[in-house]
Amino acid sequence: MGPLTNAHTHLELTDLAHLCPTEPVSIVSWMGRLAWNLRKQSKARTQASIERGTAELQACGTTHLGDITRTWLSVEPLMVSGLHGVVYLEVMGHNKNKAFKRLEQAKIEIRKARQYPGYGSMQVGLSLHAPYSCHPDLLRVGAEWCRAEGVPLCIHAAESAAETKFLLSGKLPLVKGPVASLVKKLLSLPVSPGLRPIPYLARLGVLAARPLLVHAVHVTGDDIGLIANADCAVVHCPRSNDLLSCGRMPLDSYLAAGVPVYIGTDSRASSPDLDVRAEAEFAQRLHAGLVESQNITHLIHQPFRPTSE
Ligand SMILES: [Zn+2]
Repeated sequence: MGPLTNAHTHLELTDLAHLCPTEPVSIVSWMGRLAWNLRKQSKARTQASIERGTAELQACGTTHLGDITRTWLSVEPLMVSGLHGVVYLEVMGHNKNKAFKRLEQAKIEIRKARQYPGYGSMQVGLSLHAPYSCHPDLLRVGAEWCRAEGVPLCIHAAESAAETKFLLSGKLPLVKGPVASLVKKLLSLPVSPGLRPIPYLARLGVLAARPLLVHAVHVTGDDIGLIANADCAVVHCPRSNDLLSCGRMPLDSYLAAGVPVYIGTDSRASSPDLDVRAEAEFAQRLHAGLVESQNITHLIHQPFRPTSE
């Protein structure tokens, strides 16, 4: 049995499968509902979610994984799970003091994990959530630390049209109801960068840390050039992109530019299961006529190598 890589999950959201849409919905209102549900998720429930998610991954033969943990509770179970890959500690926020405090705590956790006997098959990295949800200094300083220390970095980037619009114009997407304030909290950059997500990350120096860029759907040819020149890898999550109305990632253009591409299911909150083979089958239908089926199958059978290497 060769490797089977699911390069993007949030195992701690396994219990939130009821949030997974059955028909495409707006990503902004979905994000609001997710944030609303996370407010009350207990530690015990989060741990049970991680356990269930890990079991689901192992049941479908997954050997390699890229997981993001907002609570950092995935680290210990994944380090002893026998799975290979990276678990990324998520840090985000616009309040600079709070965000930098959290970054310092993450650095301590990551350094501690690296001392763990047998460290290496499951590494611990940093996730700076997204260009719109992090203070620009957090993105800049966090990425610089990862680059200097050789720590794997992961960022959700260029996922939706709303993200690009927000970074370019500073205009908030229209959301109504109880989740509106949560969405506003997520989106409150001090100054609108006036740039698309990938050039914005490039200008901040973030691409120099070779982040793993998750989704990377809304990109121009120039953006793909920046990603290729920086030697970053991207993760394709086509079912989540479809259900959250994000559009088609130009997989053909990435492969033509020589960008390493992985496939990930994303969490159960936006994916019907954690089986990356089902994700690849969806991708084969989505890119039919543009990318050969076997080239997509190949993407899930490569071992997951953190981009800091
Ligand atoms: Zn994600």
